[in-house]
Amino acid sequence: MIKYQDFKLVYRELGIDRSQPVIVHSSLSAFSEVEDGAHTLIQALLSSFNTVIMPTFTYQTMLIPEVGPSGNALEYGSGTAQNWRAEFFHPDLSVHRSVGVVPETFRRHQNVRRTLHPILSFSGHNADTLLKNQTIELPLDPIQKLMQADGWVLLMGVDQRVNTSIHYAEQIAGRKQFTRWALTPDGVVECPHFPGCSQGFNALTSHLSSILKSELVGETWIQAIPLRELIQSVYELILKDPLALLCGELSCQRCQVIRSAEVAS
Ligand SMILES: [Zn+2]
Repeated sequence: MIKYQDFKLVYRELGIDRSQPVIVHSSLSAFSEVEDGAHTLIQALLSSFNTVIMPTFTYQTMLIPEVGPSGNALEYGSGTAQNWRAEFFHPDLSVHRSVGVVPETFRRHQNVRRTLHPILSFSGHNADTLLKNQTIELPLDPIQKLMQADGWVLLMGVDQRVNTSIHYAEQIAGRKQFTRWALTPDGVVECPHFPGCSQGFNALTSHLSSILKSELVGETWIQAIPLRELIQSVYELILKDPLALLCGELSCQRCQVIRSAEVAS
């Protein structure tokens, strides 16, 4: 059984100063039994770091319109079933099930505040300065602010494929972004600067060996990566190879659109 003190000990062994903010990506099911579940993991985080943020994304609000810009990795008009199921965004909407039980528990915590992006909201504890400038136009602004504050990424039982910060690096390296649409009480909202696919991100791991720290909780790895160095690594990798970190799935529309754009340029 993993307990509060086990998480506390590992957070301390990672050697991150408590004044440095962290963005946490986690999978509770990656750990063997945790006493009191997500609450324990979160309480240990909040007592170890002054500022904690998590993605609390809500993909269930997404719609596919009948028409839209070309080269957007979307088959317009194909979303009848998805559109029927789409949920209205509201500030208390549950995070998408793919994002997990830890962010869902975190966003409900009494001292945690959430941004209002209808697909890509973040939630934070003592994080208003990091989160306050997120807009529809700048969905990844919290990552930029976290980098400027010398923040860290914590991957708890998950790998680079959920590391949202890599998308910010892709953006500043000039990689193509996409447009998506969300259902809100004010109508359908166009959301630009939506990131690409992350299924190829584990190729980054070998480039991070000099900056990545890792510790075990039970049998599960917790990895910590300094954000500024992470962004720099990804940025340099994409400048050197514009196809770096794309996935190998031939059916992946977003990666194919980026490949086509690079071949054409
Ligand atoms: Zn892909």
